[in-house]
Amino acid sequence: MVASRSARARKAGVEAGPLAQVRIEVGADDSFVYRIACTDCTTGSGSPWSTHRRGEDNGYLAAMDRWSFHLVEKHPGQEAPCLVHLPAAQQRLHERREQRDGTPGA
Ligand SMILES: [Zn+2]
Repeated sequence: MVASRSARARKAGVEAGPLAQVRIEVGADDSFVYRIACTDCTTGSGSPWSTHRRGEDNGYLAAMDRWSFHLVEKHPGQEAPCLVHLPAAQQRLHERREQRDGTPGA
């Protein structure tokens, strides 16, 4: 049973906390692309901070991880349900970096 796009966006919005604005777009391969924008970091130019980056993994986890990092970095003290997953998010980031850098083992 697949939840509707708007239902998923609402759920993700609750997870991401009051500062987040979550939208879901459908990618070229029919996958959901999560976009989380920060309502507090909207600049005068009208381009808010957003998790969306071309060519990167924008699945739910990746977007939420990135959002969690943004919250702790820019809005310390801000509460959001997704922050309980922060240690796991940092672990995933670490693993992704190791894969990308391909540092040879000792
Ligand atoms: Zn922000």
